Amino acid sequence: MFKLDTIISLAKRRGFVFQSSEIYGGINGCWDYGPLGVELLLNIKKIWWHEMTSRTNIEGLDASILMHPKVWEASGHLTQFSDPMIDNKISKARYRADNLIEDFIEKLRKKNKNDLADECEQRLEHAQEPSDYYKIIMDYGINDPVSGNADWTEVRNFNLMFKTFIGPLDDAASTIYLRPESAQGIFVNFKNVMECGRQKIPFGIAQIGKAFRNEINTKNFLFRTREFEQMEMQFFVKPGEEKEWFDYWKEQRWNWYVKYGMKPEKLRWKEHEKLAHYANYAVDIEFEFPFGFGEIEGIHSRTDFDLSAHQKLSGKKLEYIDANTKERYTPYVVETSGGVSRGLMAFLCNAYDEEDTGEGDKRTVLHLHNSLAPIKCAVFPLVNKDGMPEKAQAIYEDLQKYFKVQYDVSGAIGRRYRRQDEIGTPYCVTIDGDTMSDNTVTIRDRDTMQQEKINADNLKMYLFDKLHK
Ligand code: ATP
Repeated sequence: MFKLDTIISLAKRRGFVFQSSEIYGGINGCWDYGPLGVELLLNIKKIWWHEMTSRTNIEGLDASILMHPKVWEASGHLTQFSDPMIDNKISKARYRADNLIEDFIEKLRKKNKNDLADECEQRLEHAQEPSDYYKIIMDYGINDPVSGNADWTEVRNFNLMFKTFIGPLDDAASTIYLRPESAQGIFVNFKNVMECGRQKIPFGIAQIGKAFRNEINTKNFLFRTREFEQMEMQFFVKPGEEKEWFDYWKEQRWNWYVKYGMKPEKLRWKEHEKLAHYANYAVDIEFEFPFGFGEIEGIHSRTDFDLSAHQKLSGKKLEYIDANTKERYTPYVVETSGGVSRGLMAFLCNAYDEEDTGEGDKRTVLHLHNSLAPIKCAVFPLVNKDGMPEKAQAIYEDLQKYFKVQYDVSGAIGRRYRRQDEIGTPYCVTIDGDTMSDNTVTIRDRDTMQQEKINADNLKMYLFDKLHK
């Protein structure tokens, strides 16, 4: 297992991810995606979008980030979307009370105090009110990891939604929120999309978009950020059929990650012990990050909670009428909700390797799936003379019309291979003396490091074939 710092350092050095506003010292929980990062993000979104919308019963949507404040009243976010927070009076450090207790339990387990850990865990599972968390912290004498003392404030609920104002007045009546999840944009458009898409139940709506949460503790690089993108699909079904669809989507989503290279042994299911107020079944797909297992996607059966709540508050009908049976009902929803940036981090960690290539030589390599690789192919002239740069440049420009290609003339070929391995480029093409005499080029495969000679005229087809497998 590699350290998270190793991945962060590669991500920064090679232009995947930068700290946001770095020249001003950065801002917590926000990241910028550099030239390679933006390609990888786009590739993740592309394969997800294709996976969803290539089905005849899934439509796409792009709803706005700012929505009517009543949306968040109906969804329960105004009152329920909060984390229990506690402050240490001496160090002024602020924690999520549940995380503080979880870390304490982990420490107990490391010291083999498993009985105490089990008991504490049981109490945490049943904690609901801020006072429940406070009592656990007091009863077990949990100290601040920074200052080592237990001089705590009360536990308070802290709403995670970012507030701002709409229009020229900054008063309570103009208060509006940055959406904390993209799903609500789908619920309020359920009827619009169903009618114009001429869809019948069961059908789904897919959306990719930014979400914002004023997380108390941002940590672990891209894992918990304040601004992030979600890929969400809400699937509308007949009440009573949700369990069947829930199982179906569980399998589909797991298979999607594996299809795009996620090692199955690095994935696991996590059943929700405490179901959210709207859910009747819920499970997460977790990935084993360098800091432990963490959620990358949730599959939730949300009943008719959201549609019914919007129906009630807006006074608009959000029902479905079965054309054959004339049955009328509010559909149930099974959602798949994944984070794009958490996914990116998981794909990076999954692909990263340091390998011994023999003769005391080592290489860092990203074994990214071809569909995810930011750069699909690199083109090198063996030497910077004898017509090779011109020929290589022509090949590069031709390939670049179809997919992302890099041209590199500097350094020994071995070093150029290493540079591409480190960013996950699946193929490198070298133009050498033979190219000038018999028009053959050498293709080198990132994973096997095998080289193959083919006619330059067949290169495009060869790469198309490999890249679309
Ligand atoms: P967590 O328990 O980790 O806070 P959650 O259960 O609140 O996550 P959901 O509301 O189910 O998460 O959101 C769906 C997906 O959105 C998550 O699986 C994750 O990939 C992504 N996500 C949620 N919060 C964040 C965040 N703060 N930063 C990055 N991605 C996030």
